[in-house]
Amino acid sequence: MFDIIQLLPDSVANQIAAGEVIQRPASAVKEMLENAVDAGASKIQLITKDSGKTLIQIIDNGIGMSETDARLSFERHATSKIRKADDLFTLHTMGFRGEALASIAAIAQVEMKTRLLKNDVGTHIQIEGSVCQSQEPCATPVGTSIAIKNLFYNVPARRSFLKSNQVETRHIVEEFTRVALANPSISFSFHQNELQLFDVREGNFRQRISTLFGNNYNERLVPVEEETTIVNLDGFIGKPEFAKKNRGEQYLFVNNRFIKDNYLNHAITSAFESLIARDSYPSYWLRLTIDPSQIDVNIHPTKTEIKFIDDKSVYAIVRAAVKRALGRFSIAPSLDFDQERAFDIPLDKMGTIPLQPSIRINPNYNPFANADSNTVSTKRFVPDNATQVGQWTKLQDQLFNKEATANLEIKDDVSTLHQLIEDLHDDRFIQIGLRVMCVSFHSGLLLVDIPAAQERILFEHHLHAFENKSSPTQQQLFPPHLNLSESDTQLLLELRDDLLHLGFDIADFGNNTLVVQGIPTNMEPGNEREVLETLVEQYRNNRDRFKLSNHENLARSLAKGEMIKSNRQFQQKELRQIALNLLQCEQPNYSINGKKIIRKFSSDDLLNLIN
Ligand code: ADP
Ligand code: MG
Repeated sequence: MFDIIQLLPDSVANQIAAGEVIQRPASAVKEMLENAVDAGASKIQLITKDSGKTLIQIIDNGIGMSETDARLSFERHATSKIRKADDLFTLHTMGFRGEALASIAAIAQVEMKTRLLKNDVGTHIQIEGSVCQSQEPCATPVGTSIAIKNLFYNVPARRSFLKSNQVETRHIVEEFTRVALANPSISFSFHQNELQLFDVREGNFRQRISTLFGNNYNERLVPVEEETTIVNLDGFIGKPEFAKKNRGEQYLFVNNRFIKDNYLNHAITSAFESLIARDSYPSYWLRLTIDPSQIDVNIHPTKTEIKFIDDKSVYAIVRAAVKRALGRFSIAPSLDFDQERAFDIPLDKMGTIPLQPSIRINPNYNPFANADSNTVSTKRFVPDNATQVGQWTKLQDQLFNKEATANLEIKDDVSTLHQLIEDLHDDRFIQIGLRVMCVSFHSGLLLVDIPAAQERILFEHHLHAFENKSSPTQQQLFPPHLNLSESDTQLLLELRDDLLHLGFDIADFGNNTLVVQGIPTNMEPGNEREVLETLVEQYRNNRDRFKLSNHENLARSLAKGEMIKSNRQFQQKELRQIALNLLQCEQPNYSINGKKIIRKFSSDDLLNLIN
């Protein structure tokens, strides 16, 4: 009479367990998609109604289940994926606790049809609140179809906690995206209320990202690849200029499973360091492959967190690989890299050939010439009526108030800005000290780091010269003879053909003496020695430390060489031209060392600085 402890009935135990595993329709979607992947399916269809609240159906062409397994799969702790506790540590598959189906069946009306390849008939099971309603043979294709109806029908409290259809759909799309990304060799489709939301065919990882996120993503991706004894890493990072204002596009997979890991996220983000604004987040789609015995998978009930046994090494490898990928594609400050030689990525293993940047630049621009010799646009906007003034002001307002935050990058608005600057009065360009240009608009300010801008312009100009195999040379009336060190002479002679593309025409005079017969048209005579010596020094430095292409190295080194003696007071016309040329660059936001070159401030931003 005094014994009061009772075992909970299975249905209640399952309902409690369900609370942990299934929080919302998206959780059921995730579990079922992962089961289908585990079943070896090559094609998986997801169908939902009312954001999964009334129906979630998943149809796969995987191995299917026998009659007995079909029934057993709904029992708690029923799993084909684990035989002994040890397996937990060597597990490659997704689900492994045998809880998902049991949980779902406890809180929904579930109908399953499944057939093994070797059988002619399949099994049809209906189960409701953990109680089996019927089980009979049926005709059905090989594979498994599971329909989950009226989720939480018997747990009204949970049902009322569900968010709007829009929010629940977003969660489902996110789970779908994660599983689809983790398995590019599987075809997936997703229909909601009979509307097709996704139809992604099998392909490689890059194609999968483009299909899911949009075709324009293809050119935003920078490949990352690293093989070490501890971990292998591959995938893509988004170029810094496409960083997001939220964490929406950060995908990390370990052994083909999506995981969240703040520590590794930090490794990736910190590799982007000065390349993106502080309030934005880099996009990434990275996959780690690691010996399962090196991770502890089961520390989080919904299994999106894992623990690496050697997490410090994994951190260092991931960070170095991302940095190198950025440097390789000359997005990052290659010259400012901490040297991280420990992890040498064989570059020839990079999956894709980097696209050459397409550069729009004014080839006649000479940042060093006096303003008079410049081809400065003479077109000026002189508003002559109220409407025009109104439009003019409105455009500026738009530019600066798109988002009232400081440090905004110049992105979609490059051409607007370019046009505005062309039309701006000269007196709006002010030089502060030797380095800073300030352009004042009706509704904000633009600040530009002048030398960094010039360097960027020169660099892209030189790269462009290689592409077009043409950079005009000005023949020297009195070609200087430069007596240099033996190694400098040798190197310059080795580079002679490439230097010619950049406008340098040098000849061997013997005895470590070079004759500079021609110099680039935009260079002032008289500095040949300094420019060439800096070039050689930079070139060697880059070559030994970074794996830049020969052309990129030369373009960078020459830009550096030309920048010596460049600090001076500029005329307003010249400042305008620098700003215009910068805005025509492929990458106007960052210097070749990865520092910010240009920032815009709205009047609100400025007020914040004052107050
Ligand atoms: P777990 O996936 O952790 O094993 P589940 O409750 O998700 O637990 O599934 C229980 C078992 O049912 C699985 O181990 C598997 O054998 C079987 N199963 C579930 N879904 C499918 C499917 N789509 N195709 C084949 N077998 C499946
Ligand atoms: Mg499972």
